[in-house]
Amino acid sequence: MSNARILLMVIFSGLVATVFLTAQPNSVRQIVPGVWFREGDIEKQGHCNNVIIEMKDYLIVVDANFPDGARLAAADAKKYSNKPIKYVFDTHHHGDHAYGNAVWTQMGATTLAYAGVLQEMKRYEPKRWAETNRKDVKDLSRATAEPPKQTFDKTPFVLDDGTRRVEFHFFGWAHTRGDGFVYLPKEQVLCTGDAVTNGPYNFMADGNVANWPNVIANAKKLSVQHVLPGHGRPGGPEVLDGEQTFLREIYAGVAKLRKSGKTVDDLTKMGMDGKLEIALGFSPKSKTWIGKSLGQQAVVIMEEQQAGKPHGEISGGK
Ligand SMILES: [Zn+2]
Repeated sequence: MSNARILLMVIFSGLVATVFLTAQPNSVRQIVPGVWFREGDIEKQGHCNNVIIEMKDYLIVVDANFPDGARLAAADAKKYSNKPIKYVFDTHHHGDHAYGNAVWTQMGATTLAYAGVLQEMKRYEPKRWAETNRKDVKDLSRATAEPPKQTFDKTPFVLDDGTRRVEFHFFGWAHTRGDGFVYLPKEQVLCTGDAVTNGPYNFMADGNVANWPNVIANAKKLSVQHVLPGHGRPGGPEVLDGEQTFLREIYAGVAKLRKSGKTVDDLTKMGMDGKLEIALGFSPKSKTWIGKSLGQQAVVIMEEQQAGKPHGEISGGK
């Protein structure tokens, strides 16, 4: 093979890798026939990802998104299928996953969630809704978030119309007390919400960081080929592994720093000085999950360890 040809091949494979690895906000890609992944624009619009699942007579959308994210996702769903959106599943109560509920209700869909999502909303709302400084939220002219219209407390809750089986699971308290997973056993697709992200997106203040890796361990018992996270790109089972490793390593790293006498203020300072990442002793497997929130995450974990109970219980979700 000529040098020029080898060079071209290197450039081409580099391009493919770049396209695959870089975020593509507001793009839709088919994961398996009848299942589409819509990457939300987290950086500019604060949106979560959405998954569109086609059933025989209707569509299921995973996550309600913020109101303007809901409209974008609904418009995209229409491009791929003319079936009505019957269910919209809130993976958890956070605004970027559930504040669009009222938009979907207006469109005739039924918002659906694990009962824990409703309980979290009762805990944290209307305070957070009132504090949200977003035009799309204010434009709804509501006093608070619209709760999911339908909930279930026994899991898995199953929708099966003969063409496809969709299971809704709760595996315990990780990111929130309501974390719902959506699993398609035949297609081996797992939608994780924010219990598993694919990038430096772990918000931990409402979480139970000590238990979080155990929740992922439960999810890993399923046969999974495609992991569709609440934020970040889609991937395979390595996303579950990486997230779990990051959480275990940051938790152990903080415990070690605490033992050596470091305080919450020390962690904050180390985070700002860029010294925390090395001090926490991460393996290369955790790299994707390390980002600008590392200091905050370490502080939440130290507070959780000091209190000896889940952070969501001590913060009231600050
Ligand atoms: Zn969240």
